Amino acid sequence: MPDVGGLFPALLSEPLVHPVTPMAWVLWMAAVGACLGSFANVLAMHWPRRLKWQWNRDVADYLERTPASLGLSEDAPPGWFGRRSRCPHCQTVLGWWQLVPIFSFLMLRGRCHHCGQRISWRYPAVEMVAAVAFAALAMRQSPDWPVLIQALLLFVLLVLSLIDLDEMLLPDDITLPLMWLGIFHACFIEPATLYDRVVGAMVGYLSLWLVFHIFRIATGREGMGHGDFKLMAALGAWLGWQALLPIALLASVAGSVWGISLIVIKRADRQQPIPFGPWIALGGALQVLELNPVTLWLQVLA
Ligand SMILES: [Zn+2]
Repeated sequence: MPDVGGLFPALLSEPLVHPVTPMAWVLWMAAVGACLGSFANVLAMHWPRRLKWQWNRDVADYLERTPASLGLSEDAPPGWFGRRSRCPHCQTVLGWWQLVPIFSFLMLRGRCHHCGQRISWRYPAVEMVAAVAFAALAMRQSPDWPVLIQALLLFVLLVLSLIDLDEMLLPDDITLPLMWLGIFHACFIEPATLYDRVVGAMVGYLSLWLVFHIFRIATGREGMGHGDFKLMAALGAWLGWQALLPIALLASVAGSVWGISLIVIKRADRQQPIPFGPWIALGGALQVLELNPVTLWLQVLA
């Protein structure tokens, strides 16, 4: 991403955090990443519950019935904040020392302190991935405003990936604001990039839309969801049209390898849909970190 200039030049010339040493900055970002990874786990669990709750209400409203009379749950989902984290098995409220990312999982040896049930390895794995991604970001960037924006982008991509893995869904509530924020950022913070990024949003959406319809007409099946188009548009709005081909290539290769691996180890059959969003998000994240192997390869070819 180019340097942020424009709106707040005086403000932006002052770094947010003065690093004691570069190593301290990297470790600090890794710790921030681990905590945000933990928060991403919570969001990925709650967001689809809230969406389903809202859909139940919408369906009931449309049919002019109550959710209960349609056999749909009327229970409000838990709020975003104010509810202490609990063990999913025994519902015991977790103490602060059981909420420290990665370390509490290791200390508890992957089991609930209270009931002894296994805790999913996904929680520390996600925290670890976020910690590594944030550390990689810190290694490439000095502590300044652009890091904050790139970190936010990585965080949103992580949340979207987790929701898509669980639910085969990329919520419009996340993808569309992400795209518009990208255009907003281009307009007011990096006006020099505006053209590339507006074109990026258009081409991102339309290219996958086109692939989707060609595939549907040719095979009679739907190869991806509309959320994938919107995520690609959002990435185009943040990273410019130049980033789209490397992202799409990486997503296709990584997604295919993953899909074939699942079929080989017989956890999926050929007809079972595989979410594409996490692979687009992975491509986007690697692009932000300037670590997309496809981009590096294309640069060698050029
Ligand atoms: Zn428990």
